[in-house]
Amino acid sequence: MLMTHKLFTLCFITILFSLTSLAQSIQQKEALNSQSFFNEEALLQHVKTLSSDSFKGRRTGTEGANKAKQYIINQFHLLNVEPLGIKHEQSFSFTSSGKIYNGVNVLGHIKGTTFPNKYIVISAHYDHLGIKNGKIYNGADDDASGISALFSFAEYFKKHPPKHSVILAAFDAEELGLKGSKYFVENSIILLDNIEVNINMDMIARSDKNELFVTGTQNNQSLKHIILSSEASGKVKLILGHDGSDKKQNWTYSSDHASFYTKNIPFLYFGVEDHNDYHQPTDDFDKINKEFYKDVVKTIISVFVIMDEYLK
Ligand SMILES: [Zn+2]
Repeated sequence: MLMTHKLFTLCFITILFSLTSLAQSIQQKEALNSQSFFNEEALLQHVKTLSSDSFKGRRTGTEGANKAKQYIINQFHLLNVEPLGIKHEQSFSFTSSGKIYNGVNVLGHIKGTTFPNKYIVISAHYDHLGIKNGKIYNGADDDASGISALFSFAEYFKKHPPKHSVILAAFDAEELGLKGSKYFVENSIILLDNIEVNINMDMIARSDKNELFVTGTQNNQSLKHIILSSEASGKVKLILGHDGSDKKQNWTYSSDHASFYTKNIPFLYFGVEDHNDYHQPTDDFDKINKEFYKDVVKTIISVFVIMDEYLK
C-alpha cells in the first residue's frame, strides 16, 4: 500500500516535472519564434553599415577598423553590455610579413545568473581585407554578419539573462592569422579552465541552398547532442560537418574557434559554404540572403539556449 502510494507520488511528480519542462520548452520556442526575440531590421542595418564603403574594408590597424571598433563599443554601451576587463578594448601587437600591426579586440561581458564563474564565449571578427588595388573589400558576409549577430545576442540577453556568464568577443586581425583570438586565449582575463565552450560565427548570411554548417561536434558528444536537440528556424538547414569526418574541406582551423581548440576548449563554429564573393571586393550587403540570415541568427540563439540549459 505504502509502495503503491510512493509509486503514485513519484509518477505524479515525474508527470508534473515533464509537463513543467514541456511548458518551458514551448515557452522557449514561442520566445524564439516571436518578433521580440531581437530586432531583425537592426540586424540587417548593422551589416549594411559595417560593410559600407566608409569603413574602408576594416583592415587591422586602419582608420576603417578603428571606426568599426568604435561602432561595436557604442552598440555594447547601448545594449548594456559591460566590459570584460576594465574597458571593452583589449589591445595587442603582432608582426606579419615584416610589418608591425596594432590590433584591438572588443570584449563584452554578461554575468550569468546561475553559473557566473563559467563562461561561454560567443565570437565573430570585425576586421576584413581593407583596400587592395583601389578596390574596397567590404566583407558583408565575412564577417559583418557575425558581428551584427553579436548585437542580436546582446538584445536577447537583455530580456533573457543567461545562466552561464557570456563573453561577447569581437575579434580583430582574424584575416591576418587569427591574431586577435590567439591573443585572447594566451593572455586571458579569466581562467581558461572556466571557459566551457566557444561559439564562433564567421560568414553566416549567404547560402543558395539555405545550408548552415556547424563544425566542432566530431569529438564532442555533448555538443552533438545539443545540436541534434535544437531546431533550425525557418529556411535554415543545420548540417553537422566540415570537421574532417566527411569529404568536405576541414574547417577546424579556418577561423577564430581554432584558437580555442588549440587550448582544448570545445567549440561550435557556424558558417556557410564558400561563395563566389568570398574574399572578393563584391562581398557586399546587397548579396546577403536576408530571410536566411535572420533565420540563421535565430537558430544559433536557440542552440545557445539549449546549451545554457544543458551545460552544468
Ligand atoms: Zn572571416
